[in-house]
Amino acid sequence: MKKLFISFLLLGCSLTISFAQKNEVTTTENITRILNTLASDEMKGRSALRPEIWKAADFIASEFKAIGLSPYADKDFKQTFEVEQKKEKNQIVKIDGKSLPAEEFLMLGNPINPKNKSVILSIGPDEDFSVRFREIMQNDSTEAKVQVDRKHAAFLARFKRIYSRDQITLKSEPAKSLKSKLFYIANAGETPNETSQKTSTLDLKMFNVAAILPGKSKPDEYVIFSAHYDHIGVLPAVDQDSIANGADDDASGTTAMIELARYYKQLNNNERTLIFVAFTAEEIGMFGSKYFSNNINPEKVVAMINIEMIGKDSKFGLNSLYVTGYDASNLGKLMQENVEGTQFTFHPDPYKTQNLFYRSDNAVLAALGVPAHTFSTSQIDKDQYYHTVKDEVSTLDIQNIKSSIEAIAKGAIGIVQGKQTPTRVEKLRN
Ligand SMILES: [Zn+2]
Repeated sequence: MKKLFISFLLLGCSLTISFAQKNEVTTTENITRILNTLASDEMKGRSALRPEIWKAADFIASEFKAIGLSPYADKDFKQTFEVEQKKEKNQIVKIDGKSLPAEEFLMLGNPINPKNKSVILSIGPDEDFSVRFREIMQNDSTEAKVQVDRKHAAFLARFKRIYSRDQITLKSEPAKSLKSKLFYIANAGETPNETSQKTSTLDLKMFNVAAILPGKSKPDEYVIFSAHYDHIGVLPAVDQDSIANGADDDASGTTAMIELARYYKQLNNNERTLIFVAFTAEEIGMFGSKYFSNNINPEKVVAMINIEMIGKDSKFGLNSLYVTGYDASNLGKLMQENVEGTQFTFHPDPYKTQNLFYRSDNAVLAALGVPAHTFSTSQIDKDQYYHTVKDEVSTLDIQNIKSSIEAIAKGAIGIVQGKQTPTRVEKLRN
């Protein structure tokens, strides 16, 4: 009897093991293979503005194809769109015939026509430069010349580095043209009487990579799994390394999105339609997710699970992720209920002041009312490698990526199977 009992136990054991293997959500081998490909030096940091990112797009498309998904947009799994890249060159600002040094003025929008009656403003020595700057910029209906006290010269130089980057706009959604603003360091009462600049524009093609797994009984209800596959490209070298590989940000999330696609395809019981998308150009203004969101009916999107930086333990420890904008819908709560009794947990975003809910690709759909949240484990307040050349695969904890994928796979199951519908987010605009 004893013997029989033991062998019974053993049999039970081996059955459990093979069952577990068959239903494994993901494998360490797949995770490291995808991560190492996306974060390899060959991709040159996956800048959305450089051709090397095409290799990453092709790789993700080949994974979707191998999994057996259907293309969401173009036949080759890409969702192609165009942006316009504008560079301002040869800017000149003169006061009484004398050119101002480049770091002492900031000209935004079209060049100010000196003959136009523009509003003359000033930022005095006792005013808060950042606050006044924002006030003036927010008033976009007036053309303004703003005399800035020399005390704020360092601030102006810093804002110039931030604001005079190339302007990139979606061709399908041209930005409202900014009324000219000219900030310049001068004595009170001095006004520029000559300005000029040359603008060059370049059209660029960009690609999201997107696949679809049609729902069995609710094909018009979509659940989106997403991550951005672009990163920040090449930086000034540190220890002879200049490539920002973006292993955590966001090759880790992209890997998770691909592995979830593989899992749900194998599971083959999604009543809702699942859309898997790797966004481009998140780092330079979320253009990929903007284009994607502008071309889908948000009312059909039941939930969006966006995944960002899951390569290191969260402040809540292993097996736990946080959800940005946790209380804006009940998606996080539903997913937490679905993992109750397991080792996994979902937590409200602990970095409230960082405004993470509106800082990633979930933001555009969330603004349109979709329960669209970002799932992360990043300790964003103290991660020294964030946006540096040190964000490499060797600094990541593969087990944390694996458990994050498992947590999301289990947490989202009721939504994928059409049994749970999260509440909507309050719309920011109509
Ligand atoms: Zn990111």
